Amino acid sequence: MRDKLSDRVLKLKGSATLGINSKVKELKRKGIDVINLSVGEPDFDTPIPIKEEAISGIREGFTKYTEPEGTFELREVICEKLLRENSLSYTPEQIVVSNGAKHSIFNTLLATLNPGDEVIIPAPYWVSYPAMVKIAGGKPVFCKWNDEFKIDIDHLKSLINKRTKLIILNSPCNPTGIVYTRKELEEIAEIIVENNILCISDEIYEKIVYDVEHVSIASIDEEVKRRTILVNGVSKAFAMTGWRIGYIAADIEISKAVKKIQSHTTSCPSSVSQKAAISAIKWYSDISKIMVEKFKRRRDYIIRNISEKIPYLQPQGTFYIFLNIGNSDSEKVAKKLLEEKHVAVVPGKDFGAEGFLRVSFATDIENIKEGIKRINEFAEENL
Ligand code: PMP
Ligand code: GLU
Repeated sequence: MRDKLSDRVLKLKGSATLGINSKVKELKRKGIDVINLSVGEPDFDTPIPIKEEAISGIREGFTKYTEPEGTFELREVICEKLLRENSLSYTPEQIVVSNGAKHSIFNTLLATLNPGDEVIIPAPYWVSYPAMVKIAGGKPVFCKWNDEFKIDIDHLKSLINKRTKLIILNSPCNPTGIVYTRKELEEIAEIIVENNILCISDEIYEKIVYDVEHVSIASIDEEVKRRTILVNGVSKAFAMTGWRIGYIAADIEISKAVKKIQSHTTSCPSSVSQKAAISAIKWYSDISKIMVEKFKRRRDYIIRNISEKIPYLQPQGTFYIFLNIGNSDSEKVAKKLLEEKHVAVVPGKDFGAEGFLRVSFATDIENIKEGIKRINEFAEENL
C-alpha cells in the first residue's frame, strides 16, 4: 500500500518526542526499568477543581458541539487573561480555540501559507515546526543561533526575501530553555515590521520561567501585534496535556480564516475540555507557581550534579535542559543511552542541533536523581 500514500506523508518522519515516549511505554510494558527524561509534559495531575468543573459540565449535559472557534465564554476568559497578564487587548472575535497549541499552529500555517512560501524557524527548534510547515505546503528555512542560543540577527536579516511569509518564535524555548528579553524582542519586532512578515509567537511555556520575566512580542507595539499570531494553551501551565486545548489571538482576518479551516476539520474543540479550560484560566492562573517551584528545584539538582564532562545551557524557562555532547552523533548516543542505561532522552538532531541531548525534568526528583546518575556513568564510559 506504500504506493498509495501521498508524497506529503512519505517525506514525513513522525514526532521524535512522542515517538520516544511511546518506545518508553513499550519497554516499561516489557518490565524494563526505564527512566523517562524524554517527553515534555508536567508529571503533576490536573488540579482537582479544574477536573470538577469538567465533571459538572458532563453532568449538566454540556456535551454537544460548540461554536467552531470555541465558546464565547472561554474566548472572553482568554481575552481577560491576555489583558491581565500580558497587557494585550483582544476581542473574543480575535480568539480561536483549538485542540491543543500544536493544532493552533498547524491551523495558522494552513490559513497563511501558499505553496513555496518560506517560514523562518530559528534553531534549535521544537521538532514539529518544520514538519507542520511542510504539510501546509511551505518551505522551512532555518536561522542560526548566536553564542546565547538565541536568533543570530544578521543571519535572520540575510534570510528574508520576497517569499518569506512568517517567522516562528518560541520563548521560552523548547528545547534550550532560553527566554528572550524585551530588548531582544524589540530588535526582532523591528525586523518583522520593516519586512512586513507574520510572526507565530508560541508562548506555551510562558508560565514556566525561573527568575526572568516572560514578554510577549505582541506587547512591543501595535505594528508587531497586528502581524503576530499569539499561541498559548493550557497543556503546560495547568498540567492539562491530555485535555487538548490551545488557542490563538490574532488579527481578525487571520482568526476568521483559522475558524473556517477548523469548522471543516474538527468542528470545534472538545466541549468538556473547554469547561475545564475556563476554570483553569479564570480561577487558577497562579497554580503553575507551585509546579514551577518544583521544576526549579529539579533543574538546580541537575545543574549541581551533572558530570563535568557534559557542558549544558542553564535553562531560564521550560522544563528542559540541553546537554552538550561535543561532536558525538546525538541519535547514536541517545540510542546507546537507552539500550545500555535505560534512560530516554531526545537527540538534539531532531531539534536541528546535532551534538546535543534534550533532557526533560518534568518528572519526579527520584527519577531525576537516578537518571542523572546513569547519564554520568554513561559519560564516564563513553564521552
Ligand atoms: N509548542 C511547543 C514549543 C511545545 O513544546 C508543545 C508541546 N506540547 C506545543 C507547542 C504543543 O502543546 P499542546 O498541543 O499540548 O498545547
Ligand atoms: N512538546 C512536548 C515535547 O517536546 C510534548 C510532545 C510533543 O508534542 O512534541 O516533548
